[in-house]
Amino acid sequence: MADLSNVMCEFCKVGYHAPFERFEKIAVTPNGPAFLMRCNICGSLWYETLHSARQVEPSEALKMYPEIKL
Ligand SMILES: [Zn+2]
Repeated sequence: MADLSNVMCEFCKVGYHAPFERFEKIAVTPNGPAFLMRCNICGSLWYETLHSARQVEPSEALKMYPEIKL
């Protein structure tokens, strides 16, 4: 697992799963489709595609979506 500086909440520690209400969509790649999601509890960033989801560092998220504000 990546060396993340922020502390994950109990849900994100387990992975990208319910309760999905905790996630806020902050960026979209229309032709993916792929989504950058942020957990409202701990602030973890998740990159979701049709087939998988993985946690990303803020620096990586900014490379993928330079227009976002974190
Ligand atoms: Zn979280």
